Amino acid sequence: MIDISRFRVPPGQGVDLADHDPRDLADFTGSKAEGKALIRDQSHRLDALQEHLYADGRHRVLLVLQAMDTAGKDSTIRHVFGAVDPIGVRVAPFKKPSERELAHDYLWRVHSQVPGNGEIAIFNRSHYEDVLVVRVRSLVPEESWRKRYDHINDFERLLADEGTTIVKCFLNVSFEEQAERLQARIDRPDKRWKFSSGDLDERKLWPDYMAAYEEAISRTSTDHAPWYVVPADRKWFRNLVVSRILLDTLGGLDLDWPEPEEGIEDIVVV
Ligand code: ATP
Ligand code: MG
Repeated sequence: MIDISRFRVPPGQGVDLADHDPRDLADFTGSKAEGKALIRDQSHRLDALQEHLYADGRHRVLLVLQAMDTAGKDSTIRHVFGAVDPIGVRVAPFKKPSERELAHDYLWRVHSQVPGNGEIAIFNRSHYEDVLVVRVRSLVPEESWRKRYDHINDFERLLADEGTTIVKCFLNVSFEEQAERLQARIDRPDKRWKFSSGDLDERKLWPDYMAAYEEAISRTSTDHAPWYVVPADRKWFRNLVVSRILLDTLGGLDLDWPEPEEGIEDIVVV
């Protein structure tokens, strides 16, 4: 079992991403094949916990996934939730805001996607884009995005107070690994559709993005909505860690089975 606490960012602690090795394996000593087998096993356990969460119907779970391009947000979701009943899980992707979305405050589109009772929602990108790409690309003035760390903390506090358990993962891929993955997208005809030359423009701004991530993670990792910096250069280990984080999160909830109808235990179905 991996000790995931080392990836968790303590509240109030400044994060220097240079201190987080994207190839870190923590205390895991197994092979890649063993790691993959463990992910499959954990995915089945997550399925059982999700059913319990759904039946219990009192808790809501939100997983926020943030990362640079090619770090593997989609693939993480596929592997971690591979065995989970799709009925209880909803993925909400946040792309460039539409005109209608831009006509509202930046949390408007986000709040409408939060999980309901018994549900797990996965944010593939999130409100954090509003202090990441928005900051790096100067899409709003600094005096506006600077206020957003406090808004975000207040928003997440509200969700937590109202029964949402929040975990946030930054999939930490290295600059070098991103180059290889982008190159693979160009070199492989079946992957070329995934390549966008815009990704190269973002890559040129890597140091600015790292600075934006560091400040966002440092200022918004709280007890009720912690950030995990997940090593992401090895795909299987990234999946294993995110899966473990979710198992621990759901396992920590006080889940009950609903009261069955009274007097049914003696019924014999003929
Ligand atoms: P993939 O490339 O794997 O399909 P993706 O999440 O990168 O997944 P894209 O459609 O390539 O999806 O990119 C979405 C883009 O939308 C990203 O560049 C992201 O920074 C941008 N985006 C998301 N939220 C906002 C926002 N609030 N303001 C401006 N841009 C945003
Ligand atoms: Mg993309």
